[in-house]
Amino acid sequence: MRLSRYFMPILKENPKEAEIVSHRLMLRAGMIRQQSQGIYSWLPLGKRVLDKVNAIIREEQNRAGAIELSMPTLQSAELWQESGRYDAYGKEMLRIKDRQDRPMLYGPTNEEMVTDIFRSSVKSYKDLPLNLYHIQLKFRDEIRPRFGTMRSREFMMKDAYSFDLTSEAAEHSYNKMFAAYLRTFDRLGLRAIPMRADTGPIGGKLSHEFIILADTGESEVFCHKDFVGFDIPGEHTDFDSVDGLQAIFDKWTSLYAATSEMHDEAAFNAVPEGDRLSARGIEVGHIFYFGTKYSEPMGAKVQGPDGKEHFVHMGSYGIGPTRLVPAIIEASHDDNGIIWPASVAPFDIVVINMKAGDQACDDTCELIYAALNKAGKDVLYDDTDDRAGTKFATADLIGVPVQIIAGPRAVANGEVEVKDRRTGARETMTIEAAINRFV
Ligand code: ATP
Ligand code: MG
Ligand code: MG
Ligand code: MG
Repeated sequence: MRLSRYFMPILKENPKEAEIVSHRLMLRAGMIRQQSQGIYSWLPLGKRVLDKVNAIIREEQNRAGAIELSMPTLQSAELWQESGRYDAYGKEMLRIKDRQDRPMLYGPTNEEMVTDIFRSSVKSYKDLPLNLYHIQLKFRDEIRPRFGTMRSREFMMKDAYSFDLTSEAAEHSYNKMFAAYLRTFDRLGLRAIPMRADTGPIGGKLSHEFIILADTGESEVFCHKDFVGFDIPGEHTDFDSVDGLQAIFDKWTSLYAATSEMHDEAAFNAVPEGDRLSARGIEVGHIFYFGTKYSEPMGAKVQGPDGKEHFVHMGSYGIGPTRLVPAIIEASHDDNGIIWPASVAPFDIVVINMKAGDQACDDTCELIYAALNKAGKDVLYDDTDDRAGTKFATADLIGVPVQIIAGPRAVANGEVEVKDRRTGARETMTIEAAINRFV
């Protein structure tokens, strides 16, 4: 991508409305724009990051055996009347009427709809286990939308729903998502700690929130500090192994970790004082096992091996991609801007032409740009006629992991400078060496 032909509306000034660093940096880098309270457009740079986050979420859901579909944002109120949540959900639900005066709503979550899909076509235990997910916009009329897309009214959620014949089988499904979440957040460059959590309006018996420790987090959390160093399940984790997944779950729940709603002061005080971590955190994911809470009122049953009908045992599993993007920034930035983990960076490399219009600089940058593109890298080429200082500031602000800098003096020697955004380390090398390092 040539910056001269791209759309990346950088802000020079610090936006006054932004209270936390991620919100400030997302606005300054031109990633998002608020359209009305708590409702955002994702501008091209932001969209690139969001897409990469979603791609990782999708890969790990698929690896764990979940199957992607797509459900609509608008739902009929009837389904929610069946489950009993239409009246219970309260003011967070945006209620709408269509031209026939039928009550509709903008879905805040999808338990009812997916249960309806399930009951219409699955009739036998032989079709289980089943886990269906989608990545779709949700709407919750939050009382206090704030911090940009961290807490917005319209936001994106990956929500998965599992269906099993028995509670034991449902626990295995729960453990699959538990392990998938550990892997997902790790690949996003985050350390998320599963904590015992309240089940809220989703309801249910077993529940964990995945929390990232951050001073700007809205949750108050308490945990053993050893979680920070725990191993993440590997790429070759066998998701069909009941015992293997149970061992992962047992290990990751062996020490104290709870959100304030579930906090047990006495149990926490039993943790040696030096190991206690009492901090603030950001909820980036939340998983629930709720048994037959929806299948019973909505009549979602399958025939079991005993020939009888059984209400199906369900769980639901949410991740917030539009919250994860600012959460990653909260965890990874410096005074100059964002520092993206390579896995979600909007571009892999930015090529900075310090003197656009200078023949040697132009030729060098074009050569590098073409070679890296050909190698399949996502490259941003700053070919604008801004001052070099402005270009350096922009490259640091948008947080691309690698900068290749071509200035007249180095280019005259057949060289460029390669800068690592995270460490700030700079290295001068031949043009060829710079290309070879990244292809
Ligand atoms: P919170 O406690 O922050 O209000 P929640 O517990 O209501 O979140 P869940 O129903 O558990 O949210 O939804 C699953 C995930 O969706 C959350 O873990 C979070 O990542 C994301 N999410 C929920 N509400 C919002 C929001 N208003 N803006 C952005 N992401 C959200
Ligand atoms: Mg909420
Ligand atoms: Mg919550
Ligand atoms: Mg939650």
